[in-house]
Amino acid sequence: MLVDIQINTATILRENKTIRSEMTDLKRTIQHQTDDITALKSSLEHITKQYNEVERELVAARKKIQEQEEEIGELYDLQDKLEQYTRKNSIEIHGVPECAYTETEDVVLKLAEALDVSVEPKDIEICHKLNRKGNKPIIVKFISHKVKTNLYRARAKLKNNAQNIILFNNKEILVDSKTFFIREWFKKGILSIQDLLHNTGQPMTYQEFTNKYSCKTNFLQYYQVISAIPKHLLAKVKSTKPINKELYSDNNLSLQLNKSITLYLNKIKTSDFYTLLCTKIHTTGHSGPQRWSKDLSLDEDKWEKIFTSLKTVCRETKLKEFQYKLIHRIVVTKKELYRYGIKEDDECIYCGEKDSINHTFRDCHFVKIFIQRVINWFNIENKINLNPSSEERLFGILSDLHEKVLVRKFNYTMLFMRYYIYANKLHNKPILLQDFVGKMIIKYRIEKL
Ligand SMILES: [Zn+2]
Repeated sequence: MLVDIQINTATILRENKTIRSEMTDLKRTIQHQTDDITALKSSLEHITKQYNEVERELVAARKKIQEQEEEIGELYDLQDKLEQYTRKNSIEIHGVPECAYTETEDVVLKLAEALDVSVEPKDIEICHKLNRKGNKPIIVKFISHKVKTNLYRARAKLKNNAQNIILFNNKEILVDSKTFFIREWFKKGILSIQDLLHNTGQPMTYQEFTNKYSCKTNFLQYYQVISAIPKHLLAKVKSTKPINKELYSDNNLSLQLNKSITLYLNKIKTSDFYTLLCTKIHTTGHSGPQRWSKDLSLDEDKWEKIFTSLKTVCRETKLKEFQYKLIHRIVVTKKELYRYGIKEDDECIYCGEKDSINHTFRDCHFVKIFIQRVINWFNIENKINLNPSSEERLFGILSDLHEKVLVRKFNYTMLFMRYYIYANKLHNKPILLQDFVGKMIIKYRIEKL
């Protein structure tokens, strides 16, 4: 029994010891964790502090931006004001055709003269065309604001006066709530309110009106018009210079476009505008014919025939195209191919001389012989004796001296012959009469010749 108790006590003691050591371990762990928590706390504090600092900075930055935005707004306003100030002395002039002047300054001076405003070259600071689409406006900056204002006022005066006192189609003078136009009056030269007034400024009576103009107008119509004129326009007439009637008369319907072209505005049709467009485009002759003309005697009349003959020379588009290219000298020979680096030399494959368009179709010794043979063959076949010139060999017979069908056949033969020479030469093939005649006969069938 005692032994048992002793054993138990020993066991308890041992266990106690273990517990104590575990307790110590636990205490140590707790201590560690407490340390950790303290460390975390302090770092959290640190972060919070940083955060607050950043937030403060952000607020400051926001405030700064707000201030800057306000400043920018103020600057914009200031700039606008400045610009207004710099433009204060400028005027844009629209609607003056660019062809009507060489110096923009002249336009300004003439305009001022027409408006009765004194402007001298020294008043103009700068003056130039504005880069806009279409008819370019002119901008002019005056030395002083006063000159600009004077011009502006004069402009307004002109606009108001001249247009408002015209009788016809005037929005302010309405008969039966409509504007009106009386052709008979217009023909007699009645145009403005002035024409219906005495020198005193009072309207004429019907009798005075008929005496002066001998119009067939009845008195009702006359008084209808008189009563339709508003008082303020009657008052305005007194302070207005007589209008320039030439601007409105029938005699002023011609427009001198340049030295050789006068347009009659009352007769002009769409086709006339089209002609204008065409004549403007074709100011110089075609360069192809110009170069041919250096060593051929072909006048403009003949060139026109050559061009028109293109339409009827044959049915085949390929040959027409070839002839077109020949006229414009855009066919290629070895000269061009050598220049573009496609061929190694520019020598004629038949004779070894320098190749060119002239050489290929006219000057080459072998070609000359070939052409003569073709002509001989044609003459025998058609029982005729044609001896075409070198121009005719290139562009066909254009005169009416021979039978039409025969000329057509001959021209077609010459065209196909040129094409035959051209194509064979490009493909390094010989030009042979028998070969050519064989092909020619098939071609005749296609063209029904
Ligand atoms: Zn040759």
